[in-house]
Amino acid sequence: MAATGVTKAGSGPSTGPACESDTMTEAALPAARLLVVEDDRELGPLLLRLFRGSGYEPDLAPDGQTGLHLALTRRYDVLILDRGLPAIEGLDLLGRLRRSGLTVPALVLTALGTVSDRVAGLDGGAEDYLVKPFEVDELLARVRVLLRRRATPGERLAVGGAAFDLIARTVTGPDGSAVALSGRESDLLRLLAGQPARAFTREQILAEVFPDASSVALVDTYVHYLRRKLGTATIRTVRGVGYRLGPG
Ligand code: CA
Repeated sequence: MAATGVTKAGSGPSTGPACESDTMTEAALPAARLLVVEDDRELGPLLLRLFRGSGYEPDLAPDGQTGLHLALTRRYDVLILDRGLPAIEGLDLLGRLRRSGLTVPALVLTALGTVSDRVAGLDGGAEDYLVKPFEVDELLARVRVLLRRRATPGERLAVGGAAFDLIARTVTGPDGSAVALSGRESDLLRLLAGQPARAFTREQILAEVFPDASSVALVDTYVHYLRRKLGTATIRTVRGVGYRLGPG
């Protein structure tokens, strides 16, 4: 029914995902901890069962205030946030967490699905944005992407003569000046700086960094954002191919 915002793909039962579709083997790692902030009385418990059935350790916060408290006092690997919440709206909650220095990846799960809603969510500090009604398999796949993307503390990449801190999402120049990046800007720079000798096509960048988008024009937009923040030489245009890290 519409209130839960869930559609089921194929044969997926409500007790959990189809086992054969879950090919990730992360058994050696401790169970990832998820915080679900969702006030819907059906969807919240359903998500809890879904994530438990997938081997995660989820907590459920039924309102923004509880979500804020849990996120600030416990360690989580991924946040799943509704937007329409009592007490504190989801993006407001995320903004408060980001301003307090919390960098844990967040997926916004909401019925607000216009382009401007998505842009507001991603600019508001979310790593991903999934619109209700959603498919269970897609939600689980996106959570796995966020878990794989987790940076280790202190992880840095060279960007020209500057140091890119993946956790803090800052690029610090030789003179000590730091530039803060948004989540998507950071993801794009991480891809390019992770393989500095490689030229990526716009389609490859779109698939890696903006899996929920369909137009490669978004890649150009974010290249523009990064050049504006970090200097035009930061990213080189490779004619006939796409983009690579600049000559520095
Ligand atoms: Ca809600």
